[in-house]
Amino acid sequence: HSSRTEGVDKNVWVEFTQLAADYKAVNLGQGFPDFSPPEFIREAFCDALKGGPAMHQYTRAFGHPPLVKILAKFFGRIVGHEIDPLEDILVTVGAYQALFCAFQALIDEEDEVIIVEPFFDCYQPMVVMAGGKPVYIPLRPREGRAVLSSGDWVLSPEELASKVTPRTKAIVINTPNNPLGKVYKLEELQMIADLCIKHDLLCFSDEVYEWLTYDGAKHVKIASLPGMRERTITVGSAGKSFSATGWKVGWAIGSRDVIKHLKIIHQNSIYHCATAAQEAVARGFEREYEVFGAPDSYFQQLPAMLHNKRQKLATCLQSVGLNPIMPEGGYFMIADISSVKVDLNDESNKVESRDFRFVKWLIKEKGLATIPVSAFYSPEHGKEFDKYIRFCFVKEDSTLKAAEDILKKWS
Ligand code: PMP
Ligand code: GLN
Repeated sequence: HSSRTEGVDKNVWVEFTQLAADYKAVNLGQGFPDFSPPEFIREAFCDALKGGPAMHQYTRAFGHPPLVKILAKFFGRIVGHEIDPLEDILVTVGAYQALFCAFQALIDEEDEVIIVEPFFDCYQPMVVMAGGKPVYIPLRPREGRAVLSSGDWVLSPEELASKVTPRTKAIVINTPNNPLGKVYKLEELQMIADLCIKHDLLCFSDEVYEWLTYDGAKHVKIASLPGMRERTITVGSAGKSFSATGWKVGWAIGSRDVIKHLKIIHQNSIYHCATAAQEAVARGFEREYEVFGAPDSYFQQLPAMLHNKRQKLATCLQSVGLNPIMPEGGYFMIADISSVKVDLNDESNKVESRDFRFVKWLIKEKGLATIPVSAFYSPEHGKEFDKYIRFCFVKEDSTLKAAEDILKKWS
């Protein structure tokens, strides 16, 4: 095997998704809806499949023409500058491949990449596989007050600035954040943007949960800030946008001078993504363009539905003494398990952190799957945050109820 595969062999999704299946656990672990995508987009997929032979063959390598066209129009209107459908967008196999292309195309041996913790776990192996060096900075709960909201977790501007060296190439941010649910405020993004501009850094902005914000929190695209358009790669996901994670359609949007390098990785690895899925996603965005901001829009309906589920889960967790941090966005909630007195009965297993052992116990003994939060940290900072576990609430009310029954019975 190549050295590239070394040190990146553990994967929290592989491990815990299998464990949840083995124990037939109620699954609030892996982040995917257990309900169907909206009818209009399922119909669009069926129509695409029933369409002519072209729907079943290769399409344009860098993105099916109707899809890049509507993505450019849709996101151009939001970000406030023109996006060229052919030059500034790459359609990918989910947000995962957009991220992979970005790291492979833009990070060189020995380059340093600043990653804000907690972070979606794949950033770390992707930096390492590109030969780069991850440099971590944790969001920290503000001191001196009870932490109730993800908004209370903040970056220290001084600490962030101290991480920049002559080798720093990029900063990776994720807003709304997985697993915390933090939605970065304009001032926070401006601080990051100022640093990027000052040191000529790239910004990889993972915005797969961009439609999912609650209680008035507003998602801001860092690419819309002055001086950031040319240095930001914005990553999105149709899987997350339309509750169709299995379709694996995503994209990277940036300036042509940056995206052209991502295209090189793409053309020499994947070449292109499934045509019919891209056609369906194009039709989904065409519809959403027309109803944008209206109650009819799925990008309004999904967060409205999730708002209730978020409340349900938070109330349930509070009632059993797990202190949840209320997410301002996304579809995950982390909760503090330190008050739970449980004999994990695994004295022999001291190598794993407490949250990993707790989640395994919860799956095996109680039939409820969640995700340990230290999986979203570097090894050096994970220990500080292993009192949290992550719950996913993009689930049917009956699934949330089943989880509640388990929690209430045992507590
Ligand atoms: N980024 C984040 C923050 C995620 O939570 C996920 C998981 N969906 C991805 C990227 C990958 O998205 P996709 O399923 O579109 O590859
Ligand atoms: N993004 C999803 C999550 O955070 C799933 C990722 C995966 O299964 N690889 O749960």
